[in-house]
Amino acid sequence: MLLKSILNRVQFHSGFVYGSVRMVEKSARLLLEIEIRPRKGSRPVCSVCGIPGPGYDSLPVRRFEFVPLWGIAVFFLYAMRRVECPRCGIKVEMVPWVEGKNHLTTTYAWFLAKLAKRLSWKEVADAFQTSWDNVFRSVKMAVAWGLANRDLNNVTAIGIDEICWKKKGSKFLTLVYQIDAGCKRLLWIGQDRTGNTLKDFFHEFGPKRSAKLRFVCTDMWKPYLRIVAEMADKALNILDRFHIMTHMNKAIDKVRATEV
Ligand SMILES: [Zn+2]
Repeated sequence: MLLKSILNRVQFHSGFVYGSVRMVEKSARLLLEIEIRPRKGSRPVCSVCGIPGPGYDSLPVRRFEFVPLWGIAVFFLYAMRRVECPRCGIKVEMVPWVEGKNHLTTTYAWFLAKLAKRLSWKEVADAFQTSWDNVFRSVKMAVAWGLANRDLNNVTAIGIDEICWKKKGSKFLTLVYQIDAGCKRLLWIGQDRTGNTLKDFFHEFGPKRSAKLRFVCTDMWKPYLRIVAEMADKALNILDRFHIMTHMNKAIDKVRATEV
């Protein structure tokens, strides 16, 4: 079976065709270079407005890294066309295998991002002979996609917590988690642990969703309590057991100290 047949099965693009495939060795590393050409009669699509337009010219060939095959690195080679778009002017075309100026194909970036859920970013980079930066950017892409596509409409319970990331100068972050049964995830991170920090979360979350909250779990940090009462007044504010116990133990110790 030809590599092209496999590619057409796993990565078919209606406006483009795979051309010649060659194996080369660069810096003691085996590479497969696969040429891509526009399909005959297909018009380039403007990367700004997404509408096809007449071709203007072609830029020098660019390399786009794809998922490695049998330990051999795979690159697509393609000369991006420029479109003479009647709306946007002369713009680089949009191609379906990559986003923006990235040199990793979207498929490869997802591949790395999925592995980075199981291994450290460095381990992923080492295993696939790619850079830590490529793994980082892949994860960033996956996170951006996740944020743009996540559904926040059915959140009914959240937990609010603060972490101290630098003891000196008391630097804090506020973390907001969804803690519904069956869906526990980090929703938001904000700088500091002031009332305004938490207010920013509720503004982003929106009044409609805030009105649907039934439970908000916090520690006894007063600025949080005040904002929860103001922004999610229909929710029951549950003080978290760990913090209540800490305060209670401290109070008991105080009483004991006076009794000695
Ligand atoms: Zn355009």
